[in-house]
Amino acid sequence: MASLRFKAIDNLTAGGEVREAATSRITAIFGENVFSLKTAREYLSDEAYKSLVSSMKSGHRVDRTMASQIAAGIRKWAESKGVTHFTHWFQPLTGTSAEKHDSFFTLKSDGTPLEQFEADALVQQEPDASSFPSGGLRATFEARGYTAWDPNSPAFIMEIGNGKTLCIPTIFVSYTGEALDYKAPLLKSIEALNKAAVEVCNYFDRNVTQVYATLGWEQEYFVIDEGLANARPDIVMTGRTVFGHTPAKGQQLEDHYFGSIPERVYAYMRDFENESYKLGIPLRTRHNEVAPAQFECAPIFEELNLAVDHNTLLMDIMNRVAKRHKLKVLLHEKPFAGINGSGKHNNWSMATNTGVNLLAPGKTPKTNLMFLAFFVNTIKAVHDHADLMRASIASAGNDHRLGANEAPPAIISAYIGQYLNNVLTEVETRVGDKFDEQDEVMLKLDIHKSIPELLLDNTDRNRTSPFAFTGNKFEFRAVGSEANCANGMTVLNTIMADTLTKFKNEVDALIEKGDKKEVAIMHVIKTYITASKKVLFEGDGYSEEWQKEAAKRGLPNVKTTPLALDAMVTDKAKKLYETFKVYTHAELEARHEIELEKYIKRVQIEGRVIGDLAGNHILPAAIRYQNELINNIKGLKEIGLDGSSYSAQMNVLKEISEHINKVQTLVEEMTEARKAANALTHSREKAIAYCEKVKPYFDTIRYSVDKLELLVDDSVWELPKYRELLFLR
Ligand code: ADP
Ligand code: MG
Repeated sequence: MASLRFKAIDNLTAGGEVREAATSRITAIFGENVFSLKTAREYLSDEAYKSLVSSMKSGHRVDRTMASQIAAGIRKWAESKGVTHFTHWFQPLTGTSAEKHDSFFTLKSDGTPLEQFEADALVQQEPDASSFPSGGLRATFEARGYTAWDPNSPAFIMEIGNGKTLCIPTIFVSYTGEALDYKAPLLKSIEALNKAAVEVCNYFDRNVTQVYATLGWEQEYFVIDEGLANARPDIVMTGRTVFGHTPAKGQQLEDHYFGSIPERVYAYMRDFENESYKLGIPLRTRHNEVAPAQFECAPIFEELNLAVDHNTLLMDIMNRVAKRHKLKVLLHEKPFAGINGSGKHNNWSMATNTGVNLLAPGKTPKTNLMFLAFFVNTIKAVHDHADLMRASIASAGNDHRLGANEAPPAIISAYIGQYLNNVLTEVETRVGDKFDEQDEVMLKLDIHKSIPELLLDNTDRNRTSPFAFTGNKFEFRAVGSEANCANGMTVLNTIMADTLTKFKNEVDALIEKGDKKEVAIMHVIKTYITASKKVLFEGDGYSEEWQKEAAKRGLPNVKTTPLALDAMVTDKAKKLYETFKVYTHAELEARHEIELEKYIKRVQIEGRVIGDLAGNHILPAAIRYQNELINNIKGLKEIGLDGSSYSAQMNVLKEISEHINKVQTLVEEMTEARKAANALTHSREKAIAYCEKVKPYFDTIRYSVDKLELLVDDSVWELPKYRELLFLR
């Protein structure tokens, strides 16, 4: 009986696999599998190299002859590393990365075999798009979509076992040009932000010609033994546990956070780090997280587009490398109830071609004013478009974190620390409507002098805020661990572009009326502070009081995905995205549809898994033990003992029987609720039905199952328990 669970535990006791990762200096392997500019210089003609660089800078297409030369150079490089196949690598809305491998090998018309990689193969491909979500954008008769090369993200070689594949990062669009992936809109939003930010920068510095968004993500994850994971069909099917009683020891001791990294996990980390280094992913930190079996890694920040690709790649690598170590990595936002879930903090900022971080306080009054302008514009953007930020992080997995009294709440607010709060208050109160005295106020605003104080303030920063300023960047902390960073970042770039554009218009209007430039800027900053300060919150984001306070302030607090997604398709959102050419109306509608579908499918699968596990694993074990108790009681009775001598058995038996009945009835009811939800044709209604009518059963069923776990003989319980999943390795 219960064989899988105990076999897995036996295997572990025999010594969980520690597969040593090769050690080498990071600089010796960093980027060795990337067609970097340095490599390009070596493999491309001068002309081709220049064309590649200029297209990276301008975003213009590489012309055909050049593309053909570049393709030849890339192939030469790849073949020198033993690559035989290539693929366009893209990020469809399923949330993972996608590849379709083709070989360089082909036959000429006369049958001569040869290896080739032509311009067409580099620039554009037509994968069969029909199996990727399109939200109705592709009618079924038009299944074609195409992938198009993104020269801004370098080609790389993915090694799987002994196989090596050349990967070309691409966008993925429908035949009629609508985006079907995360990258295409991200690139558009980066461009929108660039344009708007450069214009504002030019108030301060005419040399700024480009502004890049930057991203440094922090990836949280759980690692458990693969054998134990395989004995949990819920983990296999959904990435999380749908049942499991809280272990006697959870995270209350916080000993995991401060403890050393377990050996097996440490070997795994070094192995996936090495794979990442080869691909140019600049991982920098690794450490234990708060929950048992939970860890985090983070790179040095990069230009946003590349950082997003690197995070997507990393998640893939983490999954693959875990297998080598007979470990299972869980990227789900909430693999275990009762202990912390996982997020992916997105540290976001903007940098200029002149090397200035626009969210770093400056050293002179002039650069201070520039910092203040971008800082306050960010707050205003968050204030004006909090609903879109909330929608961008909505998913079935993240619903377990947001608003569930753990991790950031579903209320979008910004934390800036006491010091900057004081600065803003000072600006708001001191800058009057008369502009003549303003120069003086501005010069007094010596933010730089207080930088030590600022940093001090931020080391103690608020961990409960969904969007926190951390000294030289904003940290979007509410992003889910499994999410593609592009979703939230596209929103952030676009709302920032919107706010900066309006800011510029308002400042220009004042300048036209005769105000001095700095005075006009300061004045608009002041009005922005007044208009958006209600989104600032320094207190405990998890607290009951904040829920009330936020309601009083009129801040939205949407706790579930189906409703949070509404923000994607409001008139306001459509207009915003249209203005900045990030999404067309049709694309927005399609994306909304896809997100709803994803939600429905995930909850649907979880519902089925719960039903299956209850029927095939939980109830049989409980009934087996129930029978044992019945026999025991019968026996005691038979030998003439009276009721008082088997009252304990009777009580346990009664309790078990009650829970068995409950589980059985609730599963039946849930199935009915699922049928009713499935009968709805409108995706939004269906998602709401799944959320409000089906999902509540997950908790009530779980309650009884977890009670049974405590009552039933451990030796007949089939599913590995939390104490095993979390603490054995
Ligand atoms: P923590 O938030 O855990 O204290 P750090 O503050 O060191 O960690 O940094 C977290 C992440 O923020 C890292 O990936 C780091 O590279 C990134 N980061 C630092 N500066 C910037 C920036 N200007 N833009 C984007 N990300 C940044
Ligand atoms: Mg952080």
